[in-house]
Amino acid sequence: MHSVVIIGAGGVGSVVAHKCCQLPELFDDIVLASRTESKCKRIAEQLDKPVRTAQVDADSVAQLVSLLQREQPELVINAALPYHDLNIMDACLKAGVHYLDTANYEPRETACFEYHWQWDYHQRFVDAGLTALLGSGFDPGATNVFTAYIAKHYFDEIQQLDIIDVNGGNHGYPFATNFNPEINIREVSAKCRHWENGEFVTTPPLTMRAHYTCPEDVGTYPIYRMYHEELESLSKHFPSLQRAQFWMSFSDDYLQHLEVLSNVGMTGIEPIDYQGQSIVPIQFLAQLLPDPAALGPHTQGKTCIGCLVRGVKDGKKRLIHIYNICDHQACFREVQSQAISYATGVPAMIGAKLILEGQWRQPGVWNVEQHDPDPFMADMNRYGLPWKVTVLDPEFQLDTEEHQATNAVH
Ligand code: NDP
Repeated sequence: MHSVVIIGAGGVGSVVAHKCCQLPELFDDIVLASRTESKCKRIAEQLDKPVRTAQVDADSVAQLVSLLQREQPELVINAALPYHDLNIMDACLKAGVHYLDTANYEPRETACFEYHWQWDYHQRFVDAGLTALLGSGFDPGATNVFTAYIAKHYFDEIQQLDIIDVNGGNHGYPFATNFNPEINIREVSAKCRHWENGEFVTTPPLTMRAHYTCPEDVGTYPIYRMYHEELESLSKHFPSLQRAQFWMSFSDDYLQHLEVLSNVGMTGIEPIDYQGQSIVPIQFLAQLLPDPAALGPHTQGKTCIGCLVRGVKDGKKRLIHIYNICDHQACFREVQSQAISYATGVPAMIGAKLILEGQWRQPGVWNVEQHDPDPFMADMNRYGLPWKVTVLDPEFQLDTEEHQATNAVH
């Protein structure tokens, strides 16, 4: 029997709450806390098991500490925004609570995705005898564990990694993001970085494209190379990697809207003065866009997210594909959320389970790929994210082409 506090009641926080409630024998006592408590209460009404709710502002370490001292959970599952990671880690250290998140810390004033701020907490978590698990969503999260699992069971050495994230779903809105709009737009507009021969190579955003055919008739989609935070931890923890790249699918519609919004200044992260009030354009835009947690009923289609891993086994070249396919409507029927929130919330629940059971409990700050991947992979099959491995022709290559990036992302 264990107690957890979930912070954040958006798309991901809602799925985490649903999935934890599906394991009442493990997650005995659950508190759902967020800035807007009414959203926590709305989620609590959907759940099969009573869950307490609370109001907390994660911009305030004092408020977080007082929540944790009052509730005395064993673990915090951080499903708020990347801006809050360090505050919540500080509060966990003060209150003696384990920590888990799904996205790395990002300062509000620069769109900058780097792990060093959180890795710097390692010794403090060791000294406190507490575990912090970073990036236990899908990507980062399942994609890191996929890489570790394939490296462990299929290769003597992995050399190249392509993480491919395809969302073949359609939500019916002219423009919407399937997770927090502010974080999504900051991520997509950032300069691309990929790992090549021992260093990160920086290129303009979205200037490399490929057409990728997913397995199992999910379809063929344009995918664009971009930076994603797991490249930093995976290139560190798998030093044999000579190249690591991340690809995501975007529709032409999405990219055109982003270009126009950017051209008129709506994606800016610097505050502007409007009639004596300071406004951050991207935060105002986020208020106008559909709430990702509300996309569930309308989203049709499937996601296919996985890793193409190249390397050597018994002296021979090998290429392995490992992936999960999620159906948006099936996710909605189960937990009233679309597949992106679902595919993030399930690995967060699994990471929490492995910490609470002791399998992944180890003092310090860890990325998911640093633990034994096998129990996580078994739980993905058990709790809604089944995966498949296929052996491909090692000569297969993505059909890449240079792409003229939109103004939005220059
Ligand atoms: P949402 O915007 O839907 O939800 C964010 C939640 O955080 C909201 O409930 C919001 O409250 C709450 N929040 C915001 N500010 C504060 C604050 N100061 N104090 C307390 N709560 C606050 O985002 P998502 O659910 O889509 O995403 C949540 C996290 O998951 C993000 O960090 C995102 O980057 C990450 N993510 C990770 C993925 C992965 O695969 N690894 C994929 C998708 C998302 P309010 O309702 O008041 O605004």
